[in-house]
Amino acid sequence: MNRQELQDYLHQFLSLDQYRDYAPNGLQIQGKSTIAKIVTGVTACQALIDAAIDQQADAILVHHGFFWKGEDPCIVGIKQQRIQALLSNDVNLMAYHLPLDGHRVVGNNATLGQRLGMSHMRPIEGVAQDLVWQGQLDIALSATEFAEQISQALGRAPLVLGNAQAMIKTIGWCTGGAQDYIDIAAQYGLDAFISGEASERTFHSANELGLVYFGAGHHATERYGIEALGQHLADKFGIDHVFIDVPNPV
Ligand SMILES: [Zn+2]
Repeated sequence: MNRQELQDYLHQFLSLDQYRDYAPNGLQIQGKSTIAKIVTGVTACQALIDAAIDQQADAILVHHGFFWKGEDPCIVGIKQQRIQALLSNDVNLMAYHLPLDGHRVVGNNATLGQRLGMSHMRPIEGVAQDLVWQGQLDIALSATEFAEQISQALGRAPLVLGNAQAMIKTIGWCTGGAQDYIDIAAQYGLDAFISGEASERTFHSANELGLVYFGAGHHATERYGIEALGQHLADKFGIDHVFIDVPNPV
């Protein structure tokens, strides 16, 4: 398919205009104009770019691309190497950050909730760009039991902060580095909150707010959205799609 058609479709599908973000969403590095094969991955690191070039991808779609607000804009060092590899192989790079977190079907929050077996899943509307979701377990579990369920679902043991004996039924979550939204989960009276990373202060917040915090991995919680997006594009447009997981313990 034509690159511009793909860009226009994703602009609409992911509602790019609804988000205030810290990086540009959409085409970040321009490559060839016809796209028959896409590779998806979490982060536009060198290993993903090299693997996509090996696979002869025409475009790479990622959640974490380039050009973050506040970073040094100069194209030097590892950023130069990544961009040079893309440009010299004529490979497009498209990045979708918050719009991919928020999408109601293929988004990181939606796909994480499904994977963890949540019911009554929905975003908490009107707060934090609708990026904090809530849902519930059919049967209440102890924090320790739910941590085991997360381990099974994500293949990675979470960090558990707060009372590990507490019983949990209502759960909030926001994938990635959203540990500070623990306050929102507390305001809405939820029993637990899940994000990817934890800060030093998250320990105290969990204890003082009286809810359990699960740090389930930034990479681990954001692996499913971009893959689901690639699968959606393959189903809809018949383009080849390969998801490449570059493991990351953080
Ligand atoms: Zn992220």
